[in-house]
Amino acid sequence: MSTFTETIKQSRGIERIVEGVATSDGAGVSLTRVLTGRLQQRLDPFLMLDAFGSDNPDEYIAGFPDHPHRGFETVTYMLAGRMRHRDSAGHEGLLENGAVQWMTAGRGVIHSEIPEQEDGVMEGFQLWLNLPAANKMAKPWYKDFASNAIPEYVTEQGVTVRVIAGSSNGVAGAVTREVTEPIYLDVHLPQGRTFATALPDSHNAFIYVYRGSVVVEGSAVEQQRMGILDNAAGSDGVRIAAADDARFILVAGKPLHESIVQYGPFVMNTQEQIHQALDDYRNGRFN
Ligand code: FE
Repeated sequence: MSTFTETIKQSRGIERIVEGVATSDGAGVSLTRVLTGRLQQRLDPFLMLDAFGSDNPDEYIAGFPDHPHRGFETVTYMLAGRMRHRDSAGHEGLLENGAVQWMTAGRGVIHSEIPEQEDGVMEGFQLWLNLPAANKMAKPWYKDFASNAIPEYVTEQGVTVRVIAGSSNGVAGAVTREVTEPIYLDVHLPQGRTFATALPDSHNAFIYVYRGSVVVEGSAVEQQRMGILDNAAGSDGVRIAAADDARFILVAGKPLHESIVQYGPFVMNTQEQIHQALDDYRNGRFN
């Protein structure tokens, strides 16, 4: 499908470049935490973005054994590799090359995410999307989208866009969410080409460049960097040019403006609700 992109009258610019923090999670998976706790207010409704990518099995093989979540959604986008998911709500799925897993933890799930490969590259992202206070205790939900179930379009400039959530240039994505109205795109931008997409001006938004580098309104965003897009009044979208062959994700959502209290894998609105989550988890009420 070839799509003519909407004309953007005024593009957002880059407010800040974020490098991310090298860390380890699960049973010893090396990753870069790009969206950390201190950016949760600024990038409301997004709580976390981890980028993982390695061809060294020692850095991923142990995976993420059983652990709980409550109060938000996890979106895992697997660029390369194979990961098996199992959870306490009875869901199981294999996530591989180009697939997306969308999990609403809601009132609570315990799940594991374990690699099903002994060598080769494992690369992808995990994004945490907050739930509105009214939905934090919703029933858990889960869906796997194989790569060919992710809507994709190619622009007249030869830009390939995979629409994981929300919509872009008239193409609806795999997942739609009310309240936070998330937009999640994976954009493959050939050198010298430009990509534009509309973004509601209320949305907080960022890009993360995982190949090559791009330029947004004169500001460069290099590989393995997040560029937080400004919320300039009157802007109607973003225009992004490729300095060389580039791939990036673009993530945007409408802020909730609710208090965020996080304790590890639990993200609620109050300290009391965190105590409740711990109590429920320790007493087996997550199943
Ligand atoms: Fe998890």
